[in-house]
Amino acid sequence: MSLDWLIIGGGIHGVYLAARLIDEAGIRRERLLIVDGQPRLLDRWRRCTANTGMRYLRSAVVHHLDRDPWSLKRFGARNRQLGGFAPPYERPALALFDAHCDAIIERHRLSERHRVDRAEALALGDDGVRVTLASGETIGARFGLLALGSSERTVWPGWARALRAAGASITHAFDPGVRLGDDQPARIAVIGGGITAAQLANRFAPGRAVHMISRHEPRQHTFDSEPGWMGPRYLNGFARIAEHDRRRAVITEARHRGSIPPGTWRRLSRLCDEGDVTLHVADVSDARLLDDGIRLTIGDRSIDVDRVLLATGFESRRPGGALVDGLVDEGLPCAACGYPIVDTHLRWHPRLFVSGPLAELEVGPVSRNIVGARMAARRITPWARRHRAG
Ligand SMILES: Cc1cc2nc3c(=O)[nH]c(=O)nc-3n(C[C@H](O)[C@H](O)[C@H](O)COP(=O)(O)OP(=O)(O)OC[C@H]3O[C@@H](n4cnc5c(N)ncnc54)[C@H](O)[C@@H]3O)c2cc1C
Repeated sequence: MSLDWLIIGGGIHGVYLAARLIDEAGIRRERLLIVDGQPRLLDRWRRCTANTGMRYLRSAVVHHLDRDPWSLKRFGARNRQLGGFAPPYERPALALFDAHCDAIIERHRLSERHRVDRAEALALGDDGVRVTLASGETIGARFGLLALGSSERTVWPGWARALRAAGASITHAFDPGVRLGDDQPARIAVIGGGITAAQLANRFAPGRAVHMISRHEPRQHTFDSEPGWMGPRYLNGFARIAEHDRRRAVITEARHRGSIPPGTWRRLSRLCDEGDVTLHVADVSDARLLDDGIRLTIGDRSIDVDRVLLATGFESRRPGGALVDGLVDEGLPCAACGYPIVDTHLRWHPRLFVSGPLAELEVGPVSRNIVGARMAARRITPWARRHRAG
């Protein structure tokens, strides 16, 4: 039997949209499949968040994977041992959020609808999509949905690549397969100036010498963009912008890239005051492997460390690699920035929907966040309900 919906990507967005398609659009679960090469749903989310050592999410209690905005709040009241909520905006503990995600996955039995494989190519037709998997299998569906995230390509500065090639102990906190345990060496350099760098410094500093090296002065912001971007306050104006280049400029301007929320900053400042963390505002101009460590040159001084941890984020290029490049080659429309031009239902093609970064020229600056999945569902599921197979 061919499928109704094929979702590529089983992260926060893919899982949220699968749940909404089932319980809101009335899609039968056995007619929906999530393809993701990771061994379990939400694997990238869990690994990235675990590596940072973060205890609470940056986003508010109403941003989660269930339909009812207050579901996580109630779940937290029933499971107080999982850490509860932190001010401001009742941000959930990571353990609580993750347990709630598990409950949603379990409720819809989504793990049974997860095919562990990688989508390599997608053919679009008038009556559906057909995906070719890395295993060689092909699967057809009436509709496809790309929920690929942007977490596959991390940023490695040139000096860091050279250091890795020389055999140094250097890793990016978000590279696939990386698990940062507590067993880190005594001297660490964390590269980056945003929330992840601050979280890593906070996690590893007590008892170690940690250097945080940021290209810019710390920027404090509660969220990674203003809350007005989640509703009509800013989005009505955004929707009226016809030119996609202008939309891209607005998104870039709206995002507080490389920013640190006040609570994380307070802890970091305390560790700096106590001498556990040294904050350097400079770029790394040279890096070399020594017999007993790594020497980094920053400005007019050098520091010796045992390990370098990169918190330099993800590439801003359009995600999806060859899979998405192939669709662009087939003629699907893109703006000058390389990102899809989609309609108000987030359709890139009559049979193909997008969510997350690929939808941001329509959804706006928070498209990549958890709330972005909720905003995408509001546009996709009513349409899916109307176009359900009889
Ligand atoms: C450390 C960290 C903390 C964050 N905290 C918050 C927060 O507090 N609040 C908030 O709103 N946002 C937060 N975010 C941002 C965002 O919500 C997360 O990055 C979220 O995981 C994005 O979900 P996603 O589904 O788009 O992407 P991902 O979680 O990256 O999932 C995408 C999935 O697609 C799969 N995939 C990609 N290509 C293919 C292919 N060709 N075939 C098959 N599968 C494929 C990948 O394997 C992956 O599993 C955080 C991000 C990070 C990194």
